[in-house]
Amino acid sequence: MKSVRHITILGSTGSIGESTLDVVARHPNRFRVVALTANKGVKKMLEQCRRFQPRYAVLLDEASAERLRAEILGAGIETEVLSGVESLEKVASLPDVDTVMAAIVGAAGIRPTFAAAGAGKQVMLANKETMVMAGRIFMDVVKENGATLLPIDSEHNAIFQALPYNFAGDLKAAGVCRILLTASGGPFRQTPLGLLEQVTPGQACAHPNWVMGRKISVDSATMMNKGLEVIEAHWLFEAAPEQIQVVIHPQSIIHSMVEYVDGSVLAQLGNPDMRTPIAHALGFPERIETGVTPLDMFKVARLDFEAPDFDRFPCLGLAYQALETGGNAPAILNAANEVAVESFLNCQMPFTAIPAMIEEVMHTTGRKDIATLDDVLAADRMAREAAHEWLACLA
Ligand code: NAD
Ligand code: MG
Repeated sequence: MKSVRHITILGSTGSIGESTLDVVARHPNRFRVVALTANKGVKKMLEQCRRFQPRYAVLLDEASAERLRAEILGAGIETEVLSGVESLEKVASLPDVDTVMAAIVGAAGIRPTFAAAGAGKQVMLANKETMVMAGRIFMDVVKENGATLLPIDSEHNAIFQALPYNFAGDLKAAGVCRILLTASGGPFRQTPLGLLEQVTPGQACAHPNWVMGRKISVDSATMMNKGLEVIEAHWLFEAAPEQIQVVIHPQSIIHSMVEYVDGSVLAQLGNPDMRTPIAHALGFPERIETGVTPLDMFKVARLDFEAPDFDRFPCLGLAYQALETGGNAPAILNAANEVAVESFLNCQMPFTAIPAMIEEVMHTTGRKDIATLDDVLAADRMAREAAHEWLACLA
């Protein structure tokens, strides 16, 4: 009999969180949910507590936690309700939890994700922003505390699958020359450039192949998502920027590829459904069933590839620039992007202002070295302030 894996899901009410619970529910003998967390969604969290009976439910927002507590009590569920960032950190590092799904969106995920790594957990990393903001520091915390990092981002999970099983962070020793990071190109891959100024949040969030949270959907439309993923791949696989080639592949069937020195290119394919990478990490090293529709090659029929267009997608170039600059630049890029995306989603600025704001913030804040998580958080705060100032000038 296999031992049961005890799991905390950070961001359980989101797109990745719900897909994780979907896979977990298919394997009741393998997994036990110990803690669920969210920002403030009381209704969805109550439903999840009813179904999965976790020991803890954390809502960041205290007033929402108070409402959830009353509901939980009324429903006779034995879940303790907590609130605040410290509680997120607590449930990410509980002694009897062995696996943590890090699926909070944005910089808000950094402290609990660090807590999980610091406690030596198996960390399933969806929250790519942590890696972008603090890549080197985070990888050090993972190593120093014996944590295991399993990538959830579909591209990085595909690369992980295509790398040798014993890959230990040395691409050269593994005979790898390049990573081919695929990208769908999002909803505006072919939109006439002159029309991008007027696109709406609804159009930007209508991804052709994936159903995701709103922030990552806008990131996919600007291709900042791919930029963040280049930085993520750099830290995860110790790949130099020139070893990471972005390949536009509109069908999203190949989730990324690894090119070896002998000319072999290994790819991982599948229908675009996040339950596949999630299950790969949850079951690792075993394969477990997911409910994902099997890939029908005859229906797919063709796979197309294009080079990325840096004029259409300036955010991609800004991300490469931040990676080359190093220090606090990726954290600044990330924070400016979060403010820009939120402002666009709130209809405070047009889609095309997203790269303009990020570029200006990167320019005005300037480069600094970072050594600690506090340095990263300071860069994040500084960039947010600069972004809000830029926004105020726009109004
Ligand atoms: P989402 O918006 O659907 O869900 C986000 C979750 O985080 C929710 O549970 C929300 O309550 C919680 N949250 C939001 N703000 C918070 C805060 N300040 N403090 C604590 N919790 C907070 O997002 P998603 O699409 O599931 O994405 C989650 C992460 O996974 C992101 O980093 C994203 O880049 C990454 N990712 C997502 C997908 C996808 O298909 N959705 C694919 C690859 C990577
Ligand atoms: Mg991805």
